[in-house]
Amino acid sequence: MKRNLIAVFLFFSFIACDPASTKKNYPLHLSDVIMGTSYTIKVTSLPGSIEKDELISQIKRRLETLDQTMSTYRQDSELSQFNRSQSLQWQNVSKSLLTVLKEAKRINELTAGAFDITVGPIVNLWGFGPDPMLHKAPGSEVIEAALKKTGSEYLLLDEVGQKIKKTLPDLYLDLSAIAKGYAVDVVGELLEQQGVLDYMVEIGGELRLKGTNANNKPWRIAIEKPTSEARVIQKVLPLSDISLATSGDYRNYFEVGNVRFSHTIDPRTGKPISHKLASITILSHTTMEADATATALMVLGPVKGYELAQEKDIAALFIIKINDGFVEKASSAFLEKF
Ligand code: ADP
Ligand code: MG
Repeated sequence: MKRNLIAVFLFFSFIACDPASTKKNYPLHLSDVIMGTSYTIKVTSLPGSIEKDELISQIKRRLETLDQTMSTYRQDSELSQFNRSQSLQWQNVSKSLLTVLKEAKRINELTAGAFDITVGPIVNLWGFGPDPMLHKAPGSEVIEAALKKTGSEYLLLDEVGQKIKKTLPDLYLDLSAIAKGYAVDVVGELLEQQGVLDYMVEIGGELRLKGTNANNKPWRIAIEKPTSEARVIQKVLPLSDISLATSGDYRNYFEVGNVRFSHTIDPRTGKPISHKLASITILSHTTMEADATATALMVLGPVKGYELAQEKDIAALFIIKINDGFVEKASSAFLEKF
């Protein structure tokens, strides 16, 4: 790895710091992989009416279906078919895809374009999409050309008719920064429908927490210190009935020489972000919103991102690089929760 001065890290940024966490303490404790990442589900107590194996297969089927719908890594996914299509006609879509696209457009507007699922072609140019890693920076003409194919305004939604269309044939959508969050919400809602009151659902570091853990206490979630070398705890948050997501440039990036390229793209420039914001954690009612907002504020950086969090009442914790370490800065909405 070092030989080519290239390093790629694909981990996530939470350590579920749960002292009660042995398998026997949770009647349902499931870990597996989906959407190119790992997931963990813990249920503190299962209502007697529930057939556990049936619930597990229901969860797995649901996650599999969502991956099959929203993955850009699967050529046959609903999203990949839409991406490949050059048609400017309305196309029928599943309810779940429409839900995620609607939220993606809302967060795009809320963040003045910082969150933009149409940056897909640029994500791919920089080697963070389904294509193999390039490990070199693309030229400015290539970026300019790709930028012309982006913009959430080229995606139209018809909620009543459950249809979507592009007004630009090459429009290509990448839901990597929102689909995991949505999947977490879907699993959480499935559990709640079954009468489960206390649970933790985590996919690739995006979390939804309800009730209490096996110690009858709020869930304890550790936020990592944003360094790629070791997994060190920065802060532990006691949390219930809330979702959270973290974005960071310290786990998924590549390096050429001494320059580090983040997988978060600034849709205004078509380039990976470069500022002193090392990680951002968002608390929110839905994991989908937390997930997308974390990426958006990561794009905006420590100054503009903080201003937006204050203006829109977003609960955000910024971890900012300084010369010899990190400083934390929390928005007012974040501070109110603790
Ligand atoms: P993080 O945890 O760092 O937010 P995610 O996996 O949630 O990581 O999201 C990062 C992915 O989102 C990238 O790999 C890319 O596919 C996509 N992406 C990058 N920049 C943006 C952006 N500005 N808006 C929306 N999606 C983006
Ligand atoms: Mg994210």
